[in-house]
Order: sequence, then structure tokens, then C-alpha cells
Amino acid sequence: MSIISINPANGKLIKSYKEDSEKQVSGKIEKAHTAWLKWRNTSFSTRAELLKNAAALLLTRKLELATLMAKEMGKPLPAGIAEIEKCAAVCDYYAANGAEFLKDEAIKTKASKSYVSFQPLGVVLAVMPWNFPFWQLFRFLAPALMAGNGGLLKHASNVTGCAVAIEKLITAAGFPKDIFKVLVISSKFVKQVIAHPLVKAVTLTGSTEAGKQVAQQAGYYLKKTVLELGGSDPYLVLADADLEQAAEICMQSRLINNGQSCIAAKRFILVKEIEKEFTRIFLKKMQSKVTGDPFDAHTDLGPMARTDLRDELHQQVKNNIEAGAKCLLGGKIPDFKGKHAYYTPTVLSGIRKGMPGYEEEIFGPVALILSAKNEEEAIRIANDSPFGLGAAIFTANVKHGEELAAKSLNAGSCFVNSLVKSDPRLPFGGINQSGYGRELSAFGIREFVNIKTVYVK
Ligand code: NAP
Repeated sequence: MSIISINPANGKLIKSYKEDSEKQVSGKIEKAHTAWLKWRNTSFSTRAELLKNAAALLLTRKLELATLMAKEMGKPLPAGIAEIEKCAAVCDYYAANGAEFLKDEAIKTKASKSYVSFQPLGVVLAVMPWNFPFWQLFRFLAPALMAGNGGLLKHASNVTGCAVAIEKLITAAGFPKDIFKVLVISSKFVKQVIAHPLVKAVTLTGSTEAGKQVAQQAGYYLKKTVLELGGSDPYLVLADADLEQAAEICMQSRLINNGQSCIAAKRFILVKEIEKEFTRIFLKKMQSKVTGDPFDAHTDLGPMARTDLRDELHQQVKNNIEAGAKCLLGGKIPDFKGKHAYYTPTVLSGIRKGMPGYEEEIFGPVALILSAKNEEEAIRIANDSPFGLGAAIFTANVKHGEELAAKSLNAGSCFVNSLVKSDPRLPFGGINQSGYGRELSAFGIREFVNIKTVYVK
């Protein structure tokens, strides 16, 4: 069996990769474990130096790596470069702060000495998506290596070239040869990797369905999981919001990575006073964005990552229109040359409970507009979702906005007058069907450690 990588802008085969055999997979797991037995005893300063090397290499190679993403999943070049810079930043962040996050914590008891020590767990399996092929992995890998763990990557099949490039970069940065290994396998073999006794924990970033299956398998073997899953982030616009600013941020958040971001704005909940005017400004902004070749400097949106994902999205749009939604913009597969995965910005209004868009994640450049009588109803609609990844609220009353963000909106990250974004210094993750556990910050690095009590009488 082989795993193939196809350019979504033109349907051409980039490369075919031979899938690892069962024996090769076991060999890689054993090698990673052997490397870990030494790695676990290295000092924080050694690990930090290597992470800094990785950061420097990422920056040196950013154009080459962004080019790879543009080819494999259609990300426009400037966005790819920004992604690589963010990966370098997360390596530097954990190099600078990891030792502090994991230092022993003394706790007074009747013992002569008692404290908490954070010890690595071993080799952790990362199952990752294609939408941010470098960032999703580095936000797991940087803290994992700093904590003294090893890593195995099963990347999304369509970005296997990115996976191979990451493994080479980690080796070139000076990390032990086998401490991070790429498994070239399809998703049906993940179960066997989870079952391997030398794999100690699993992290998955991807769809809720994949998360449920992996959690079930890991649960059977009693292995810790962190799950970063889908989202349908609500963006609430209140009557006193600065509409020009809110519409600009909403447009940016909906179209980031061509709408293929877990924390993209997906549901726009508008109170009745501003619905008409906000929609007018927002539509103009969505309309102005240029869809085209990810290598063209004028392009805002590249193709979606795969034709099947684009076709699925288009079907969701049609289903919503059939259920009564109004299509204000887009809603069609563009007439570009050749076999491609393009979809242009689309806006659907009149989304109500019972329609598919109310419940489902829409993973592409499609904005859903929902109406609310007032603020109270807007909050109720925002929370009436199976997901709980991010949320944003727009209002001139910043104090009130903060209160709603902190206490009323149900999500892992709630932002006021800003788009939801990840930052190495802040914890990131969801609730409900968006998953559990946290990445980034001090919380992220403590997910895959043995929080060990040491007690000396
Ligand atoms: P996906 O289809 O779930 O795939 C994600 C990864 O899981 C891929 O490596 C995939 O491998 C693997 N996989 C799929 N089904 C599996 C299974 N049953 N068992 C084990 N592994 C499995 O998701 P995607 O289409 O790549 O990414 C989009 C989804 O990810 C969206 O729902 C998005 O919201 C979510 N996401 C969440 C976050 C977050 O931080 N919360 C971030 C980014 C994306 P194959 O490619 O070989 O199928």
C-alpha cells in the first residue's frame, strides 16, 4: 500500500510513499524507546540548546518549508512562512521556560522533605491533521522534548512530505537520531501503535470522530490522551460594537487558512439592531478576497486541502440551503482550470436550530449568519452547540464583554474584540466535543509527565 500526496491546486501527484510494514513500525517504536532511555536523563539546558537549534533551522528554511505546504495542502506562501516562524517561536518559548515549568515543587508535610517532581512518560504518539502541518506538530513536540519525552508522528496522509521534512529538521538540529520518528501509515494502523506497550500516551489533533476512536482505543490500554478536536466557534456581535472593526476581524477569522482552522469563526450571531448593517459590511469584505494559486502574491485564499473535503463542504452548503438558509455570496464550485479543490468565500444567512449548520462544523470558507433577538439570546445560541473550542464577543463595553467571556460563554478560549488565536504563553484546548486536555503554556508541558510525589521521612 502507498500513501500519496496530491497538489490540490491542480490534482497532480507530488509523491507516493510506501507505507511502513508492521515490522518497520515496531522497529521505529523500539528505537524511539531506546533513544528515550538516554534522553530522559539529559539536562534541561541540553534540551533547551537543541530546541534553540531547531528554531534557528526553521527560520533558515522557512521559504523551503512554506513551499512544501503550498504544494501539499494549498496554503499561500506568506501564511506558510508565518506558520514556520510561529513554530520557531514555540521552540524558543519552551527552551526559555520549560525548566521553570517543570522544576520540583516543595510541599510542606510531616516529612523531612516532600515535593512534586515532573518526570517524562516515555514515547508519545502524535496523530496530526493537515491544516497547519508544522504548527500542530511543533506545539506538541517542543514541550514533549523539553519534558524529556520521545515522539512518534502519524501525520495526515496528504502531508507526508511535511512529516518527513520535520523528522529531518529535528535530526539536523542535533536531537538524538531516533527520539522523534515519523510513521508512514494510514489511520487504520494507528490502533496497533496505540496498543504497543512502549507507546505511553497519545495526542490527537483532528476531527471529533477520529478523536472518539483514538480515545476509545487508548482508553482500552489505559493510556493518557490529549484531544484537540473540531469546533464551531461563535462570534457574537452586540448592538454597541464597532461594526467596521468587528466585520474585519470576523472576515479574517473565517477565512484564515482558507476557512480550514479549528478556531476559525464559524457562526456569526448578530443581535437584531445591527444585523443588516453588519451583514452589508461583512459581505463586502468577504467578496473582496482573491482565491487563486498559493504561489501568486495577490492570492488571499488558496485551494482547499483536498477535493473530497471541498466536495463535502459544498454538500453541506447545499444541505443548508435546502433546509431554508439563504445564500448571500458564493455557494458554487468555481470554474477554474483542471482538477482542483478551490472554493470561494460563501455566506449563508438565516441559520436556525434544526438546520445542519447549527450543529455541524463547517471546515472551509463558509460563514453562517444566525439572528438573535438580544444579547441573552445570542449567548444562549452560542452555547447551544456540541462544540466548545473558542468564542469571541464584540462590544464597545469592554468590561461587560470580559464578564461574558469569562463567565457566560462555554468554550476553552473566549476573546473580546479579537479573533481567537493560539499563543505559546496561553493554554489552548476545548471542552465538550472539541476535546480535552491543554496544549501550550505551563499547562501543556505538564500533560505528558508523571506528576510524581517524592516523600522522605
Ligand atoms: P481527521 O480526518 O480527523 O484527521 C486527523 C488525523 O487523524 C490524520 O492524521 C488522520 O489520518 C487521522 N485519523 C483519521 N481518522 C482516524 C482514526 N479513526 N483513527 C486514527 N487516526 C485517524 O481531521 P483533518 O481533516 O485532518 O482535520 C480537520 C479537523 O481537525 C477539523 O475537525 C478541525 O476542527 C480539527 N482540528 C482541531 C484542532 C484543535 O486544536 N482543536 C486543530 C486543527 C484541526 P489520515 O489523514 O491518514 O486519515
